Amino acid sequence: MSLANGRSYLAIPGPSVIPDAVLRAMHRASPNIYEGELHDLTDSLIPDLKAVAMTDQNVAIYIGNGHAAWEAALANTLTAGDTVLVLATGRFCIGWGEMAADMGIKVQTIDCGDAAPIDLEQVEGALRADTGRKIKAILTVHVDTSTSVKNDIAGLRCVLDTAGHDALLMADCIASLGCDQFEMDAWGVDVMVSACQKGLMTPAGISFVWYNAKADAVRPARVSRYWDWRARTDPDQYFQYFNGTAPTHHLYGLRTALDMIKAEGLDAVFARHKTLARTVWAALDCWATDGPLALNIADPANRSHAVTSVVAGSPNGDALRRWCEHEAGLTLGIGLGRSPADAYFRIGHMGHVNAHMIMGVLGTIQAGLIALDIQHGAGALDAAARVIAAG
Ligand SMILES: *Cc1c(COP(=O)(O)O)cnc(C)c1O
Repeated sequence: MSLANGRSYLAIPGPSVIPDAVLRAMHRASPNIYEGELHDLTDSLIPDLKAVAMTDQNVAIYIGNGHAAWEAALANTLTAGDTVLVLATGRFCIGWGEMAADMGIKVQTIDCGDAAPIDLEQVEGALRADTGRKIKAILTVHVDTSTSVKNDIAGLRCVLDTAGHDALLMADCIASLGCDQFEMDAWGVDVMVSACQKGLMTPAGISFVWYNAKADAVRPARVSRYWDWRARTDPDQYFQYFNGTAPTHHLYGLRTALDMIKAEGLDAVFARHKTLARTVWAALDCWATDGPLALNIADPANRSHAVTSVVAGSPNGDALRRWCEHEAGLTLGIGLGRSPADAYFRIGHMGHVNAHMIMGVLGTIQAGLIALDIQHGAGALDAAARVIAAG
């Protein structure tokens, strides 16, 4: 007998749950790539991709995962020898900086650790100290998926303006787009990258770079035609959208996912994520009253609404994940980039998730804590249910 048989649930911070409607949209014969419906469908994605990022600027689509969007953003704005300031609040911004280093870009890092947001004062200090204006771009992550911290991107824009520094503000919204409120134009972000497999609910395979006129004007001496965002943004011929064959089925899937977001309304999508995140935190607050469990990010104002990183003590993180997967069909996220990794786990609550799914996740974790005899405070499911009941 296994209680894991039945529909499995991948509650990791990406890839996220794929809606049946998205899967159905992808289940079709290959379309004509030379003319017709696919071209109209691709054109139709552009205004909706701008809408989810809250921008009137440009967007380029790449066949690739988030790492491809990282490279695209760097390749279109920076030259080997340039300096970037990396604002590390977990594994992901460090990874973006490592990719810049691979491209011959000099990396200066402000590391704010694994449990705190960007220290804006430190950033202002670094910008003011850069009297020679060597820093060409700031690389930052809106939500760092490894720590579940959410950074104040609008605050960063204020810091740049106060310091009178004209570095590009580049934000990774791979884990936050379509989950946490993000306003590219209002917040003064010059370049933003994201991918389709998290808040956008589509199987991994396409990613995006949004950029404004200021970022477009900082053109490096050489950009390969593959990474060049200009042709993709404003193609003379259809194949230039992707510099080759279109990601045909992904485009159908993404069309449906964006339709779902439109139908629900972006504000309602954000509100749903916020309430579901608060449901998770309410349970954690109870568990944390007794035993090793704790929320990784102490201040709710600095927490993502898409993912929650949990401190569980070694080896409880791994043990709990294994129990949930093998005994209950629920897959939780690993302690990515943390040390020791088995002391942490993460709960993904991004995209196509609703109240009963989150209550299911929390109830399953509760069962795992009991089964594994991991000490925990009482009342977690009751507290979570109260958040759901209040709506
Ligand atoms: C998932 C994620 C990435 C990496 O995306 P891939 O598609 O795995 O390349 C980068 N940054 C953040 C914040 C992420 O959540």
